[in-house]
Amino acid sequence: MDDSAKTLVIRHGTLIDGSGQPPVANDALVMQGDRITSTGRLPAGLQLEDERAVQVIDASGHWIMPGLIDAHTHLSYGYPHLRGEGRGRGPTRPELSTLKAAASAQKVLRSGVTSICVPGGTWFTDVGVRDAIKLGVMEGPRVYCAGRMIITYGSIEDDEPSWVGTPDHGIGVLCNTADEMVTEVRRQCKHGVNFVKMADSRSGDVQTLARAEIGAVVEEAHRRNARVAIHSRGSASTRAAAEAGVDWIIHTDLATEADLDVVARAGMPIVPTMTFLAMVLEANGRYGQDVIQMDVGRMKRHFDRLIRVVEQARSRGIRILAGTDTGNNFFMPFGEYHAKELEIFVSYCGFTPLEAIVTATHGNAFAMGLPDDLGLLAQGKLADVIVLDRDPLADIRVLQGGRHLAWVIKDGKVVSTGAPASETLAFS
Ligand SMILES: [Zn+2]
Repeated sequence: MDDSAKTLVIRHGTLIDGSGQPPVANDALVMQGDRITSTGRLPAGLQLEDERAVQVIDASGHWIMPGLIDAHTHLSYGYPHLRGEGRGRGPTRPELSTLKAAASAQKVLRSGVTSICVPGGTWFTDVGVRDAIKLGVMEGPRVYCAGRMIITYGSIEDDEPSWVGTPDHGIGVLCNTADEMVTEVRRQCKHGVNFVKMADSRSGDVQTLARAEIGAVVEEAHRRNARVAIHSRGSASTRAAAEAGVDWIIHTDLATEADLDVVARAGMPIVPTMTFLAMVLEANGRYGQDVIQMDVGRMKRHFDRLIRVVEQARSRGIRILAGTDTGNNFFMPFGEYHAKELEIFVSYCGFTPLEAIVTATHGNAFAMGLPDDLGLLAQGKLADVIVLDRDPLADIRVLQGGRHLAWVIKDGKVVSTGAPASETLAFS
């Protein structure tokens, strides 16, 4: 019997189950196939000494929690940059792009992030990587993804003059009418996306989508059982997205209290994605405006505003999801900052460490389309688990970069540790 068919048991350790309940000393977490079969006391009749049928991990002195979920990661934006590839968003060769995204996905998983939501990428690269992982072709996190984001003239990712248009290797696809958008939704659904990504106000000052256009996309996507997420930094764009009924809104930097009232009534979560802004601020101007698309002063204003938005959203009962924008630039490497959003929530937004952990586990399961199945360590749930050698409730930063991981388990199977082969690739 190979390891994958064995019952997996984690003995002892402190269990943080993802529900928000306080941590408890746990006797045994038992997994069979890809599901958790029990927590608490070791079930009578389980023969731990039967090494052919049971694999036992001793987690004494360790902390056990659900695998992390990053609700905002991009696998195929062209970072890290490959030697010989043109600069700009997205490698120009789809085959190479796919293999590189696959290597990046393995890094993500080995850092303790067992699921990622991918709002946008090149071609159908992420769909391919998602399915390769699902089929067992390769190891990787659970992936829930969109395709190229739907944009209009002057939107984010429409960087060429109109007579050039958006290149095939771009991460945006130009659709300037509702009809063109609906056609693109149909095309993307045919190719297997989980959701459609739209992009409205790039930096918050200009609205680039009409409410009726967002509504047309939502109607068509929902008809085909796909969901819709939108990039929106602005005030009017966030309100329009909420009124049009998108499934979640990414950024929301400049949303006013009146806008948040509309979001609260409409009932969708937001993914503030403060990590990217924080990384830009930490670099303090080193990258230049052509790299980050906004000057540092403006980034600082957006970051400060977003702290208020998160507080005001929570007070209205709007669910906050944790996403980082990992992979959207060269200073957002895979496997490093997926849990930095939790540190920011705790340091700036009034979250307790336990609330931050719930957000990035059971809360983020919403962005994976598995709100009832994922991010909880309880009987019947999917068996994605991490075991840490430090207490994340004492210092939320120990979740970053996989530096305190003892074990990563996805779908009830122990993930190989050590650096993936891609570590040795020549990225420039
Ligand atoms: Zn993004």
